[in-house]
Amino acid sequence: MKRFAAALLAALMTVGLCGCSWQTESPDEAREVIQVIAMDTVMIFTTYGEKSTHADYLSEDEVRRLESLLSRTDGESVICQLNSAGGLGIDVGEEVCGLMEAAEEYTLATEGAFDITIAPVVAAWGFTEKENRVPSQKELDELLTLVGPEHITLAGDAAALTPGTQIDLGGIAKGYASDRIAEILKENSIPRATISLGGNVLAWGDRPDGTPWRVGIQDPQDPNNANAFAGMLHLTDAFAVTSGGYQRFFEADGKTYHHIIDPATGYPADSGLTSVTVVADCDLDEVDGTPSVGTMCDALSTALFVMGEEKALDFWRSGKYDFDLVLVTEDSRVVVTDGIADEFEESKESGYSYEVVS
Ligand code: ADP
Ligand code: MG
Repeated sequence: MKRFAAALLAALMTVGLCGCSWQTESPDEAREVIQVIAMDTVMIFTTYGEKSTHADYLSEDEVRRLESLLSRTDGESVICQLNSAGGLGIDVGEEVCGLMEAAEEYTLATEGAFDITIAPVVAAWGFTEKENRVPSQKELDELLTLVGPEHITLAGDAAALTPGTQIDLGGIAKGYASDRIAEILKENSIPRATISLGGNVLAWGDRPDGTPWRVGIQDPQDPNNANAFAGMLHLTDAFAVTSGGYQRFFEADGKTYHHIIDPATGYPADSGLTSVTVVADCDLDEVDGTPSVGTMCDALSTALFVMGEEKALDFWRSGKYDFDLVLVTEDSRVVVTDGIADEFEESKESGYSYEVVS
């Protein structure tokens, strides 16, 4: 468990896609900042108001609870039990069933670009145990026969998988955690906060001076430079979730292989995008702790990264879900959908060209 002092953390607040925080202008408004290492990432909770400390530590507890519930490597987790059940039905509980149902909805909506049954393929590339390797085409072809929503059966609070099929909620877990934390912030009447779960940010309320939170989009070409941004979002009451191939990858034979897999090929998605940021409103009335907008943003950021620019924009234009996009392409363009254009600030001298699409 790691909890660090607020002063130290203020300096860390521009890492990746994270809420950038400033000292409060109203001295009597308490602010609590904690850093949590969980779900394989660095999380920073910056919360304001009378109950800020309470809300931060409740949020930490919630993230840790979800981590042990959903872990793919902790043998005790319900997901590990399901994955090793050899086809038998397991009582996974209402919450996990709800999350699996949400995942299935996004699998169907994205025509399979998001698919939690990609787990055995992710493992074959060594991303689960962090022992990376390039699997053979034969191995991938065999594993792909186990991928698809038809291999999951849900009944009541029980789930069963086709023998050999496994699930991996890594593409949705942090988004769901952000939905859960939104509920904690609401219950504790937190007026403003930034919750940064790696590439998942919840900008809650506005800054103490009444202006929007500034959320930087990491420059995928310069992933280790916390001050290199492909753009800046100015957000109030919104989720912003980024997926990119630059976060987790390995190199073999001069090639780079990252952790977002295209379920159509079994290979790391190679769609011409270097990152996808999905932005959607966090409507206080709709915050109820169930998988909702945060979960949607996380699932869609993964899926649209797999789909590539053209299909991602078609999906956005379909209007099926209410969100906006910032796409960063391999050929150094930043494509912003018009619903978020007024909240987007270009990064001067970043080398990117910018376009707004409708
Ligand atoms: P991150 O978790 O790094 O923020 P994502 O939300 O895009 O990034 O999720 C990537 C994770 O989701 C991978 O580490 C893997 O566990 C899982 N995953 C990889 N490809 C897919 C996919 N096509 N559909 C669903 N989950 C995926
Ligand atoms: Mg995701």
